[in-house]
Amino acid sequence: MKQQKLVILGSTGSIGEQALQIVREQPERFDILALSCNASWESLAEQVREFSPAYALVCDKEYFHDFKQSIADCNTEALLGSESLVELATLEEADLILNSLVGFAGFESTVTALKADKKVALANKESLVVGGALINEILDEGKGQLVPVDSEHSAMLQCMVGEDWDTVSKLIITASGGPFRTWSVDKIKNVTVNDALNHPNWSMGAKITIDSSTLMNKGLEIIEAHWLFGLPLSKIEPVVHPQSVIHSVIEFVDGSSKAQLGPPTMKVPILYALTYPERISMEAPLLDWNEAFDLNFEPVDYERFPCIKLAIESAEAEGSAPAILNAANEIAVERFLNEEIPYIKIPIIIEKCLERLEHQTNLSVQTLIEIDHEARELASNI
Ligand code: MG
Repeated sequence: MKQQKLVILGSTGSIGEQALQIVREQPERFDILALSCNASWESLAEQVREFSPAYALVCDKEYFHDFKQSIADCNTEALLGSESLVELATLEEADLILNSLVGFAGFESTVTALKADKKVALANKESLVVGGALINEILDEGKGQLVPVDSEHSAMLQCMVGEDWDTVSKLIITASGGPFRTWSVDKIKNVTVNDALNHPNWSMGAKITIDSSTLMNKGLEIIEAHWLFGLPLSKIEPVVHPQSVIHSVIEFVDGSSKAQLGPPTMKVPILYALTYPERISMEAPLLDWNEAFDLNFEPVDYERFPCIKLAIESAEAEGSAPAILNAANEIAVERFLNEEIPYIKIPIIIEKCLERLEHQTNLSVQTLIEIDHEARELASNI
């Protein structure tokens, strides 16, 4: 088996670090070609020392000088600025690009890597939310390959081995329900940043943790599944499953359902994306079938969690709506984290942006960048 040359975009984030843990455990399988971070240059410098990539990129220009000096004695070329993400995503020698960038910032890297016929392991769900139609066109025309890292979509992919999409009647996407699953509307009004960052099952970056608490994350994942697997939105149904053990369920036309299970760890879906369609052995947490445990399910409460409804409606509207939703959400979450707005204003800002901005169709990368920019500006000023 040939060693895979791996590029990790966003290597200092939660997914990036777990991917590097896999590389550490599977040195004969993976070799790190390039790494990137936004601003965590000290962590990146440590990674450079351990993995000796050919390239390392710091997107935030403020830290470049410090970074470059800190790795001056290494055989790694230091790169600067988010413009260079595209360069790393299309490196000739790269076998595999893991895109674990956060938000719309990861979109162009996905598009350019696929255009360069790369295999992309996608942890950046926003790429598909914003430009799913465009990405599918690129996949149809070229030889690029897109494999999901998201645990729910990995579960669906794993359930589909040996199956045909024509025989699927429904995708049931599970949601933990987040920290406010049992909170009343009144209590949700007073949510603090610390409350929202306290996820019951998963340890993740700040943006996705807030998205999980509002259920926007599930909304984005419904759109992601729609584009990834080509199923109509009407066949994708979210369900709250507080234990996060069943990562998703596929219902087939004969009344049979398949689910994929495991303790909540991203290591399994990351490895599966990196080795797909192969499954290889790895140390990972396991369910203990000698202990009694419960698996519970409850319907999504769209009144208490309006973000998921907004996401589904934007996907039904198609065109620029999901891009507007995504940009407005990114800004609203950032403003909440900066304690500029209360928690319950997040869906209000998103809704206003969707109402006020012009609906567009026939989207190119350039028009999507413009729409994203415009929505960010509006969301910053509401
Ligand atoms: Mg997920």
